Amino acid sequence: MAQFKCYICNTIVKTGEKFTFTKSGSVHYDCFISAKRKELGSKNEEKLRVLSLILDSQLQHLLDMLAIAEVPEDMKEIFRVKYKDIEKACGETTRQISEL
Ligand SMILES: [Zn+2]
Repeated sequence: MAQFKCYICNTIVKTGEKFTFTKSGSVHYDCFISAKRKELGSKNEEKLRVLSLILDSQLQHLLDMLAIAEVPEDMKEIFRVKYKDIEKACGETTRQISEL
């Protein structure tokens, strides 16, 4: 896996840690959500709560897929497409959180 640095806490994202991409770059899930919570205060609190839970489960889904060690050669394309679908869903939820 390529190495990514979190633009909030400035540490390298470790394998197995949840992270996402925003316009500013790569960021830990926890860093992203807590910064957003501080920024918003009580504004859109419920929306942030729901979207952050959705993003958490989507990112967990990605990690679970990455944990599938052996993918047979003739399934690699299927795997890639499925992975990309979830990645896209994560990106969309991240964008919705950014726009709160
Ligand atoms: Zn971080």
